[in-house]
Amino acid sequence: RLFNEVQDLKGNIRVYCRIRPFLPGQTKKQTTIEYIGENGELIFGNPSKPGKDGQRMFKFNKVFGPDATQAEVFSDTQPLIRSVLDGYNVCIFAYGQTGSGKTYTMSGPSGPHEEDWGVNYRALNDLFNLSQNRRSSIMYEVAVQMHLVFWILAICFLDLHTLGIMSTSQPNGLAVPDASMHPVTSTEDVLELMDIGLKNRAIGATALNERSSRSHSVVTVHVRGKDLKTGIPLHGNLHLVDLAGSERVDRSEATGDRLKEAQHINKSLSALGDVIFALAQKSPHVPYRNSKLTQVLQSSLGGQAKTLMLVQLNPDVNSYSESLSTLKFAERVS
Ligand code: ADP
Ligand code: MG
Repeated sequence: RLFNEVQDLKGNIRVYCRIRPFLPGQTKKQTTIEYIGENGELIFGNPSKPGKDGQRMFKFNKVFGPDATQAEVFSDTQPLIRSVLDGYNVCIFAYGQTGSGKTYTMSGPSGPHEEDWGVNYRALNDLFNLSQNRRSSIMYEVAVQMHLVFWILAICFLDLHTLGIMSTSQPNGLAVPDASMHPVTSTEDVLELMDIGLKNRAIGATALNERSSRSHSVVTVHVRGKDLKTGIPLHGNLHLVDLAGSERVDRSEATGDRLKEAQHINKSLSALGDVIFALAQKSPHVPYRNSKLTQVLQSSLGGQAKTLMLVQLNPDVNSYSESLSTLKFAERVS
């Protein structure tokens, strides 16, 4: 093993919570977050029920408060990401209501400030740089696929074509075989890919008359290695997933296709919850087939695969009930 610093905390599933800061210009700052502990403790409060009655305690593998930097969040995910070079499949996904910081954590604000860049860029860059390590006896190739999963279809957001999704995981880990594979051969490629991805993602979402928060965005990094001494091949993949917003849609507001779409999103998120719950319980039956999302991610969920859920929270008291349902979703799997 090259990177054996990966310690198995609790099986292969871990859960981190990240609380985003109040946004600049937001004047009324009443928070539901009462306490963040060093060891992943979180006390969540109901401001209209002050004191013990309104409090609930949650325990994660780690909690990042509003001041946590992108670099800090990445550094706690890095060992997991590096295990892809040892041939592990890894799935990292951000869960939470729209506006809770999922895209910020995964992609970060696009722009020239490297310190703002999110997990996707840092992960791809790190894997690429390590794969170039001359001292290693393993020769690596790195390639990337990016796609959006809507409730009806998936589109590749590197070159915007629609995709068929295979109903079972492929032996080579290509759950979406038609999504363009883009080899990464330099650090510039990493940057360029992220840039094209971001732009096309916006175009794709508009073309389908959808906001990006109504789709799951999946970036898959494939790493293929070959041991130069033994000839033994190795293949690991990393799925980086920015999930659709988990908020409940008010039946009185959404109708027709919008309502159906909202129901499908909720169904795919609960299907994901069911899969992770089954894995956490070490249940012999894991219900992968209940949604497209879990089919796409199958090779990186379960078996030897390692899963990290980043639970995102908006600290605002107005988000109390959505935050509580996010926390309950997380509690089920942690
Ligand atoms: P989501 O993808 O869950 O809908 P976003 O990532 O778009 O949420 O975040 C909503 C807003 O909050 C954006 O303006 C984003 O820049 C800001 N934001 C989220 N997380 C942070 C953070 N950790 N630090 C600073 N701003 C953040
Ligand atoms: Mg988003």
